[in-house]
Amino acid sequence: MDHIQGRSKEDICAHWGDDYDRYLGAIVPPIFQNSLFTRKTVNHGYTYTRVSNPTTEIAEKKIAALEEAEEARCFSSGMAAITAALMSVMEKDCHIVCPLNVYAPTKIFLETYMARFGVETTFVSGESASEFEAAIRPNTRAIYLETPLSNVFTLQDLRAIAAIARARGIVTIADNTWATPLFQNPIACGIDLVVHSATKYMGGHSDIIAGVIVGSKERMERITHEERGLFGATMDPHQAWLLIRGLRTLPLRMERHQESGMRIAAFLEEHPLVERVLYPGLPSHPQHELGKTQMSGCSGLLSFVPRGTKAQVAGFIKSLTLFEEGPSWGGFESLINSPGLSLDEETSRRTGVPQRLVRISVGLEHPESLLADLDRSLEAMKRL
Ligand SMILES: *Cc1c(COP(=O)(O)O)cnc(C)c1O
Repeated sequence: MDHIQGRSKEDICAHWGDDYDRYLGAIVPPIFQNSLFTRKTVNHGYTYTRVSNPTTEIAEKKIAALEEAEEARCFSSGMAAITAALMSVMEKDCHIVCPLNVYAPTKIFLETYMARFGVETTFVSGESASEFEAAIRPNTRAIYLETPLSNVFTLQDLRAIAAIARARGIVTIADNTWATPLFQNPIACGIDLVVHSATKYMGGHSDIIAGVIVGSKERMERITHEERGLFGATMDPHQAWLLIRGLRTLPLRMERHQESGMRIAAFLEEHPLVERVLYPGLPSHPQHELGKTQMSGCSGLLSFVPRGTKAQVAGFIKSLTLFEEGPSWGGFESLINSPGLSLDEETSRRTGVPQRLVRISVGLEHPESLLADLDRSLEAMKRL
């Protein structure tokens, strides 16, 4: 990968992996919207789009370079990438360690679905590396991480956990969706496999569902033939083309998401009607210092707990005009949702997800308009 060394992430997003001469100088690559590649006269090395596709490969080259990894493989969704990465390291009756507040479908996959195959998962808070170490058993195959967690925003120490796992031959997988490869590179911290929901910031326009795994050439080749080839959750070339378009502006968008995210987090922290803000970018975050050792920036997804009843919180959400209500994030548009409102008290206590927790995805609107919208709706909440 020496040829990548020294290239900025901006340059990678703009040009890396593009091969203009190969495609008649087209500055934007063509969409190879074909299932098969004939080889009667020339074998170009492609056979079938489930295995590989020239358009998809451009996205894969860019993402591998951004993640400082050898290779990447695209999938039809983030969950397709996560389940493939996990399946690639699990065996019947093995054991996994994972943070309790991991992305809910990932938790359900491990806890419920994989339990059918004898896989057991120990869920830990994830805030200290020693919890992972203590949970390890002789049959532990993988430690799965997601840092920060995309609801409560606690971090896991990538370097310490990777070292613990390496010493015992345990594979580490990290979901890096929140930080994006621009702000965090788990492979450089010793993690084996990185997974992303490219539906979020990488796509960036709320118009695709997409996923990616990055890691060593050896692991990626095996995943191409086994989990991707056999389960078939390959990315469609048109989806890959939209993903490439999203990547072109990723550095610019992340700069704005970070700037607006920081401003809004700081504003909320000072607001009398806000009890608590959960955002690793704030110096008050208990793991702020750890964050600085493994992340070079913060994205625009954060949570906070308004001071009010559950009904007031629901009213606050409804009264916002610039934040649409929805569960996803990472797009151009500001969003809000309330993952805690559906939890019963016991679950809320056990998971540490407050019932009144609201999560906002700070979009690309003007930060002043977003601040004004939040301020006005918090004031309106008081009167409910
Ligand atoms: C959305 C999300 C996923 C799943 O991605 P899809 O593309 O929706 O399948 C995985 N991890 C995190 C942290 C997410 O937010």
